[in-house]
Amino acid sequence: MLTVRWGSATDVGRARQVNEDSLFAEPPIFAVADGMGGHAAGEVASQLAIAELAALAGAGPLAAEDVCQAIARANHRILATGSERPEWAGLGTTLTGLAVVELAGGQHWAVFNVGDSRVYRFADGLLNQLTTDHSAVQELIDAGLLDPARARQHPRRNVVTRSLGSEPEPLADLELYEPVLGDRFLVCSDGLTNELPDVEIGRLLAALADPAEAAAELVRRANQAGGRDNTTVVVVDLTALD
Ligand code: MN
Repeated sequence: MLTVRWGSATDVGRARQVNEDSLFAEPPIFAVADGMGGHAAGEVASQLAIAELAALAGAGPLAAEDVCQAIARANHRILATGSERPEWAGLGTTLTGLAVVELAGGQHWAVFNVGDSRVYRFADGLLNQLTTDHSAVQELIDAGLLDPARARQHPRRNVVTRSLGSEPEPLADLELYEPVLGDRFLVCSDGLTNELPDVEIGRLLAALADPAEAAAELVRRANQAGGRDNTTVVVVDLTALD
C-alpha cells in the first residue's frame, strides 16, 4: 500500500480577474485543470473535469481504465454543456495529474495528461517532466524549430493543441510508473511553469519538505515573478510503501 502526504495551493494571480484553474487532491487522485473560454466558461469546464475525477475517489481500488473513462465522461459533459449554453460555447480545459491504480496485484502511479498543464517527478534532487505538453510550442520544439529554453517567451506559448471540450474523443496520454520511496510529484498549471524556470522549481522542492508549504511557496513565487496567469500546484510525497 502506498502512503502519501500532499498539499495544494491555487491563486488567481496578479493580472486575471477569475481563477479558471481547478484542482482535486485526495488519494487516489491528484489533478489540476486549467480552463479556457470567455464568460466564466473556463471555470465551468475545469470544474466539470475535476468533478468527474473526484467522483473516482472513495470508490475502491482504481484501474487505469477507470481514469481513462472518467476523462472521456468529462469530455462529453463539457461538449454537452457548450452546446446547451451558447454563452459558454468554446469552453474547454486541460486536465493532468496522477492516480494510484491497481495493476497485477500491486499499486502503481498512473500519470495522465490532456493539454499543457504538467506532472513532474522530483527525485534525487532532479526535476523530471513526465508529461508532454499538447501545445503549439511543443510541436515547434519536436520539429527542431524552437529551442526549449526560449519556449516560455514564445508568442504562441498559450496555444493548446489538445483539450477537453474541443473534439469528441481527445486522447489523454496515460503512463504507469513504479512507485519508489521518496517519490515527490508536482502537478501544476502553466501559470507556474510560464513564470518559474525548472531549476528554480527544483530548488524550492528540495528546500521545502512539507508538501503544503512547498505548494504555497511555489504559487507565491509565481506571483512574485509576474503572476500573469492563474497558478495551481499540487505536491504529492510517497512516504511509505509496504
Ligand atoms: Mn493557465
